[in-house]
Amino acid sequence: MSVAAIVVAGGRGTRLGGDVPKQFADLGGLTMLARSVAPFDAHPAVGEIIVVLPEEFVADGATMVGPTSRPCRFTAGGAHRHDSVRAGAALLSDAATVVLIHDAARPFADAALIDRVIDATQATGAAIPATAARETLKRVRTGAREIVETIPRSEIWLAQTPQGFTRSVLNDVIARGASDRAATDEAMLAEAAGHRVTVVDGDERNVKVTTADDLADARARILGPPRVGTGYDLHRLVDGRALVLAGVRLPSTVGPLGHSDGDVVCHALVDAMLGAAGAGDIGQHFPNTDPRWKDAAGLDLLGRANAILRERGWTLSSADVTVILERPKIAPHLAAIREALAATIGVTAAQVSVKGKTNEGVDATGRGEAIAAHAVAVIVSGGRR
Ligand code: MG
Repeated sequence: MSVAAIVVAGGRGTRLGGDVPKQFADLGGLTMLARSVAPFDAHPAVGEIIVVLPEEFVADGATMVGPTSRPCRFTAGGAHRHDSVRAGAALLSDAATVVLIHDAARPFADAALIDRVIDATQATGAAIPATAARETLKRVRTGAREIVETIPRSEIWLAQTPQGFTRSVLNDVIARGASDRAATDEAMLAEAAGHRVTVVDGDERNVKVTTADDLADARARILGPPRVGTGYDLHRLVDGRALVLAGVRLPSTVGPLGHSDGDVVCHALVDAMLGAAGAGDIGQHFPNTDPRWKDAAGLDLLGRANAILRERGWTLSSADVTVILERPKIAPHLAAIREALAATIGVTAAQVSVKGKTNEGVDATGRGEAIAAHAVAVIVSGGRR
């Protein structure tokens, strides 16, 4: 047996908002299409993949899917779903004896689901995954919004994909589709052609991403829970040093003493970001015994820490920094500091907060002998791979 997957991304749907067609929407650093293709590319029984796209996107297909471990070909679909399936089937190799047809808008099919469909297809010729209806079902008169009847729930199953067909059943499906263009899935055509179509357990997680809310939910699932880190830094303030925070120079006769430039804002934020990723701390990555970091600019270290996060698949979601400085007043400089931090990390200024405090004359910081900063960083997975 050799299994082929046809992934159908026929629509130009922009219901999700924005000008990117749904199948190319970003899902945690990969397109939805790439995530819908991936479980088939990873499945040991699948030997070839065919992706059907609207004609104007065929040339972008390989870029949007990215590298695959088995042959993946791209072709243009048609006006109806059936035309797209037929176009995909035309590229099937002779070796493919079982064909799985999958929606590009379902990025969460897993290996167990694909196994169930393949097994049932081999046994009966055609099989689809479906989930039992959980809500009470009403037939409603269109327009009047009036209940006509209540439908027994036990008989109702909600169809998903991938839908599986042996090659001979698929040939009948394609022949049937030529005259029945209203079919919304291939199983409908197999049923109409008189084939037995079995139902295997679907997966509630194998959702079809249709609306902007669906897309937000799908992203949240892929990104996983956020992680949080905290950071703290303090430097003595001494004569003859410049007071520079995130590249912004504050008017001051004193500045932080340190091996580097003593930028507490960047240093606290670096520790918060590294801490969130479980990636050590600033002293470990940029030791003050290493001459490379002598007088290193805070923003330079921040950029390097950000690169460490990205390499590990994390990206900053938000940060909040509190600077404790008796004088000068930091308020006039907060916006510039914030912009500089955001630009260095590659996020928007809205994702970064910087606040100023004094210590009310209490302790060394309050007497103006030191500057300190506290930072919190929230990171999420899904940095571009
Ligand atoms: Mg420091």
